[in-house]
Amino acid sequence: MAIKNIVEKFIWDNMDTVLEQKKDMCSCPTCKNDIAAYALNKLKPHYASSAAGEAITRAFFMENQYYLDMIIAITEAVEIVSTNPHHRVG
Ligand SMILES: [Zn+2]
Repeated sequence: MAIKNIVEKFIWDNMDTVLEQKKDMCSCPTCKNDIAAYALNKLKPHYASSAAGEAITRAFFMENQYYLDMIIAITEAVEIVSTNPHHRVG
């Protein structure tokens, strides 16, 4: 297993939850990628080098302020992308 930034998976896992509350938000692949990129740039990366390490780190995050920070970062990203989408309009 390669080293990976587990925050990236968090973002994707939780993006739909945030998007559900923002019905007018476009959820095309371009916009979703923009949201993920923006949120990832706002958040400190956390790398895991093994499945066990990933499980421990995930458990830690889910009980912490970090979870809230992540939701806030995604929400901000949705606002930014919705006012300035990069997908082709029309
Ligand atoms: Zn879009």
